[in-house]
Amino acid sequence: MKEDRQYVMAIATNLGFPRIGAKRELKRAVESFWAGKIGPGELESTARALRREHWRLQQDIGIEHIPSNDFSLYDHVLDTAAMVGAVPGRFGYQGGAVNLATYFAMARGSDKVPAMEMTKWFDSNYHFIVPEFEAGQIFRLASTKSIDEFKEALALGIRTRPVLLGPVSFLLLGKSHEDKLDPLTLLDGLLPVYEDVLYRLMDSGAQWVQMDEPILALDLQQDALAAFDTAYGRLNGVTDKLKICLATYFGDLRENLGAALRLPVAALHLDFVRAPQQLDRAVDQISENPMLSLGVIDGRNIWRTNLDQTLELIEKAVDKLGPDRILIGPSCSLLHCPIDLELEDTLDEELKGWMSFARQKLEEIAMLTRAVNEGREAVAEMIAESRAVAERRSRSSRIHNPQVKERVANVNEKMFKRKSPFRVRREIQRARLNLPPLPTTTIGSFPQTAEVRKARAAFKKGNWSAERYEAFLKEEIEKAVRFQEEIGLDVLVHGEFERNDMVEYFGEQLEGIAFTQNGWVQSYGTRCIKPPVIYGDVRRSGPMTVRWIKYAKSLTARPLKGILTGPITILQWSFVRDDQPRRETACQIALAIRDEVADLEAAGIPVIQIDEPALREGLPLRRDEWPEYLEWAIDVFRLASSGVRDDTQIHTHMCYSEFNDIMEAIAALDADVISIEASRSDMELLDAFVRFQYPNEIGPGIYDIHSPRVPPVEEIEALLRKALNVFQAEWLWVNPDCGLKTRGWPEVHAALLNMVAAAKALRRKEF
Ligand code: GLN
Ligand code: ZN
Repeated sequence: MKEDRQYVMAIATNLGFPRIGAKRELKRAVESFWAGKIGPGELESTARALRREHWRLQQDIGIEHIPSNDFSLYDHVLDTAAMVGAVPGRFGYQGGAVNLATYFAMARGSDKVPAMEMTKWFDSNYHFIVPEFEAGQIFRLASTKSIDEFKEALALGIRTRPVLLGPVSFLLLGKSHEDKLDPLTLLDGLLPVYEDVLYRLMDSGAQWVQMDEPILALDLQQDALAAFDTAYGRLNGVTDKLKICLATYFGDLRENLGAALRLPVAALHLDFVRAPQQLDRAVDQISENPMLSLGVIDGRNIWRTNLDQTLELIEKAVDKLGPDRILIGPSCSLLHCPIDLELEDTLDEELKGWMSFARQKLEEIAMLTRAVNEGREAVAEMIAESRAVAERRSRSSRIHNPQVKERVANVNEKMFKRKSPFRVRREIQRARLNLPPLPTTTIGSFPQTAEVRKARAAFKKGNWSAERYEAFLKEEIEKAVRFQEEIGLDVLVHGEFERNDMVEYFGEQLEGIAFTQNGWVQSYGTRCIKPPVIYGDVRRSGPMTVRWIKYAKSLTARPLKGILTGPITILQWSFVRDDQPRRETACQIALAIRDEVADLEAAGIPVIQIDEPALREGLPLRRDEWPEYLEWAIDVFRLASSGVRDDTQIHTHMCYSEFNDIMEAIAALDADVISIEASRSDMELLDAFVRFQYPNEIGPGIYDIHSPRVPPVEEIEALLRKALNVFQAEWLWVNPDCGLKTRGWPEVHAALLNMVAAAKALRRKEF
């Protein structure tokens, strides 16, 4: 922070910077450490170098509130658990500082103990480690990471604003194996650790601290709001010298806004990208003293900001509160963005001009802050340019395809409906497919071996000709088909060998979708993903999968299942254009998939599976917004899947096990068959399907593909019997939990052999 400001003015702020490094240096270092190739010293020096580079970069751009402790070797929620010593008993932690071995064991498990659970960070694609609590949980300061990193930056001459996950969010994001344990009862025991940390930060010279409480954007019970009063009432006692910026993001605080504004903190950060409508309420209700931190640059997407429009919003707040009560920052941590657009050299200039990654976003923040403090004239050129870019983009023919728009406009009711109701279709499909009871199948992919990946890389680099690559894929397909015939599966797949990733494969072939070279975003731990960028109207220029499945069909007399990725999943796992509603974009993708479905049908493929593993994660954070989302999500799926004849069987696949609260929607998809994850919950989730009387056929995943373990025949049989208690054999499919691409052939062979044997044994015994 600049100490020499003459006037107090608006402050340029960041909430968090991506940790992984522009070249994924952190991923490499951590994985090398796990593999025993480097020691803790080398790991630490890579981490340190990244932190330094990121702090300096932010300083050079002109960010004044630069975060620290936003860095993590794995995950910031896990860091918080370590900070307060919340290490579950099974890790054998004996007190004192949580060491690296314990830290990584918590994240990944060890040969002796299972890892802690991982789940999605709100509605993002980042996964955090779920804290585990027990009754009488004792908290103690067990990691001084936040203080150490503050000091580390200070030694470089940068006085950072340390970031802590706030105590209420930390508790409410956790879970307990004891059903009745209310995590908020642990608050009193937790707060002294936070107080201790705040004191230490203050003693080390911190002037501000950022406490993230994203939970405020969710539906909260009264007792949670009371917990906020307790927590910040107490932490405020520490803070006569240390100012707290309470950070919320990912949505409108709505009924929680008043409570948040009343908390005794120095600043409140609100997300005005997701929820610009809360600005008026916030400036009206805010009391005399606190500052308002304006989250105005989208931390969840990669589009360049129209500075003009954003300045209007900022000026509204400045007019009411004065510039000295304003902080200007990203809507949330930039964790969810790739690092630097400048590293992209395959994207064309026009498209690149529309985009902004973490570094560019911080530049936008610095510019906006200058516009407030020095007047718009100071950055007139930049504002004019961003306006011009926004105008060019909005008119670009690359975004607007009149054909696509017309097609969407002409979508009619009939297109959402299969020709006949399920009961009628079912008989027709049964006659065509002629399958035994308990038909066996797989979810689509077979092992993506090193060989397959190498071949693809060689082809992409130009070292392999298209003919050579094609011949290779055909060989793989043939092997997979023979394998499936041999072990006796009933409905075959071609194996998805040509696909790198279930979204990327389709994205690469669809118009209106682009790919970055280095646009990595952390998904969990060292796993990074490069989401596609949906920038314009989406159109299919030709068949995407038909060739491969046709080849498979030429090899066998058994029925084949074509596998496609559904529109919601393509949408959900991409950066999506922000100039039209998501449902509109989803609808365009659905039409492209619908065409592919039609082509598969025309090619004589009797079964078509449309994967929607991301349907559930698209649910809005607030319950009352669920129905609207589910309505269009169902429509979009049905638009993609309903154009077929009655005798074509549509499957869908979803790999999660929480169906209780969306059962109606799942049924409304009207897929003829659904395959789901079930083995890890011991078929318990079938209860939801029974309670609801799920009307169509179902394939509860019969073994967990996430583990190399081969389930014995008896175990599969027992699971199937459980399923048969609640479903008739004619309605039940037998399949693994998910695709097999991460597994090796020997396990797949053994496991599927057992699966088929179990199905056959039951058929013999029961029918
Ligand atoms: N068809 C895909 C596969 O088998 C499904 C993957 C998924 O559900 N995530 O790999
Ligand atoms: Zn799956």
